[in-house]
Amino acid sequence: MEFSILAESFNKMESTRKRLELTQFLVELFEKTPHDVISKIVYLIQGKLRPDFEGIELGVAEKLALRSIPKSSGIPIKKIEDEYRKSGDLGHASSIILEQKTQTTFLVEDITVERVYETLFKIAKLGGSRSQDMKMKYISSLLNDATPLEASFILKILLGTLRLGIAENTVMDALAVAFTGEKENRKKIQYAYNVSSDLGKVAETIATKGIEGIEKFEIILFNPIRPMLADRVKSEAEAIEKMGNEFAAEYKLDGERVQLHIEGDKVALFSRSLERIESYYPDIIEKIPKNIQADNIILEAEAVAINENTGEFLPFQELMHRRRKYKIEKAVTEYPISVNFFDVLYCNGKNCMESSYKERRNTLEKHVKEDEFAKYIPMSIVRNENEIEDFMENSINAGSEGLMLKMLDKPYQAGSRGSHWLKLKREYRNELGDSLDLVVIGGYFGKGRRTGNYGTLLLATYDEDEDTFPSICKVGTGFTDESLDQLYQILNPKVSIKKNPRIISEMEADVWFEPELVIEVVASEITLSPIHKAAMNAIRKDSGLALRFPKFTGKIRVEKAVEDASTNEEVITLYKGQKKIAHDKNLM
Ligand code: ATP
Repeated sequence: MEFSILAESFNKMESTRKRLELTQFLVELFEKTPHDVISKIVYLIQGKLRPDFEGIELGVAEKLALRSIPKSSGIPIKKIEDEYRKSGDLGHASSIILEQKTQTTFLVEDITVERVYETLFKIAKLGGSRSQDMKMKYISSLLNDATPLEASFILKILLGTLRLGIAENTVMDALAVAFTGEKENRKKIQYAYNVSSDLGKVAETIATKGIEGIEKFEIILFNPIRPMLADRVKSEAEAIEKMGNEFAAEYKLDGERVQLHIEGDKVALFSRSLERIESYYPDIIEKIPKNIQADNIILEAEAVAINENTGEFLPFQELMHRRRKYKIEKAVTEYPISVNFFDVLYCNGKNCMESSYKERRNTLEKHVKEDEFAKYIPMSIVRNENEIEDFMENSINAGSEGLMLKMLDKPYQAGSRGSHWLKLKREYRNELGDSLDLVVIGGYFGKGRRTGNYGTLLLATYDEDEDTFPSICKVGTGFTDESLDQLYQILNPKVSIKKNPRIISEMEADVWFEPELVIEVVASEITLSPIHKAAMNAIRKDSGLALRFPKFTGKIRVEKAVEDASTNEEVITLYKGQKKIAHDKNLM
């Protein structure tokens, strides 16, 4: 397939943010795409080469890409740098420059999607000392044969700056329309995606085998399953109202969710956002296979830092010391953990997701042996408010965050947040103390002790409909010297020259960040705001919502994708809940 078709399509997509229009552009593109290229197109649209869980990163630095342009064009590097400085977007700058290409090349080969994809793949796989030269050679050869428009998109993909604003949901809508003619088939496509986490594979299946192929989609060992999530409740009474009169309560441990795929000694570990995390947990890889009594299994567990002497659970921050590239062995001994299993999704070649919670818990206890390192998450069947409260107290005393409440007769619903699982956190009982997971979009340099760090951060919610990040507050409290340093280390590489178009804010910031990091904050209240853009017009025309007295809780949620941050909807619900409480209090 000619790459020009894709480049022209991307160009159209960049000109709109409207979801319906984007869906239509995608449908048109899919209809022009040969079936054996469709998975590649789906990955490229998302700026990827393979699904996230394979961990294939392009990792081309701007400098290297800059140096590759003159090679192919004969244009002096100074000129390219000047243009780049003006526009802040290398892809765009290169297309302007290449329009003025001085060096005419002979033997120009048409470039195809396949060629671009394969070259990018080779670049991603290159490592070692000679890799820079090879990478430059590959990039140059592509740019040599590319038109300015094509070159601009090749560079954007290479640098990770292609941002078409296309959410996975939009891709699935378009696949349903393009290949089945019916948008309703989206649900089946969604299921296939939830069990495989591989949108490229889903696209290829629907293109080649139709909806029947999608219906036969099955769990694949070592392909992660998108996790089931929980709604929140504020009180024991609300939980009983929603769950009926008998359900399971489990400790809600404050660690990292880990999905384990195991067959013999082969183990893969995936985080909540389905990234590979084996390197942080060599102890899990080494020890857990001995606890498994099954040929193969997919399990879910919470890895929690513990005090080895007392067995007490320690907070999430302790575990974060393991998120490092070097000296991991030292971190493993300094920050010991336990692995606390709470679900089984697949066992001995069979899908367990359709089984009820009760059956799954039995399967778990049958096939996983407990010891000092591997535990079942503490669970109790509860029937009334007193029993919940009692178990909540045990849970908090053991150092956990609260309870997860789970319906006994319900299946595992991959990839969805629903009322079959509810979380009751201690702080939710304090009406205004709800915590929110927000995206860091901007920063302000600190003064005094904070000089050299970002003293205040600008935060945003996630707007699911628009796939954007509207600002909701600035936060400057709750930071320790250590957390400021840590945040600086993480945020500094994310500074961008220009505000990312997915950021919706009219605030000024000293620096803008690529929206890639989620942190947790609490606040005293949610108020209407003339300046912030979260939930704009939802409560009142021309007003957004803002957090009053926000405070960083100390939790940097590195395991969360920005699309998993608190949504506008959640903030609206909290705002309305707070109104209702105030109203009820006034009546008392
Ligand atoms: P939160 O911000 O409350 O951690 P979240 O958005 O990360 O929530 P939720 O589904 O809302 O995800 O909350 C469930 C999270 O709690 C899981 O991702 C998991 O890491 C953790 N957890 C701790 N104990 C349990 C348990 N017993 N069952 C399921 N998840 C648990």
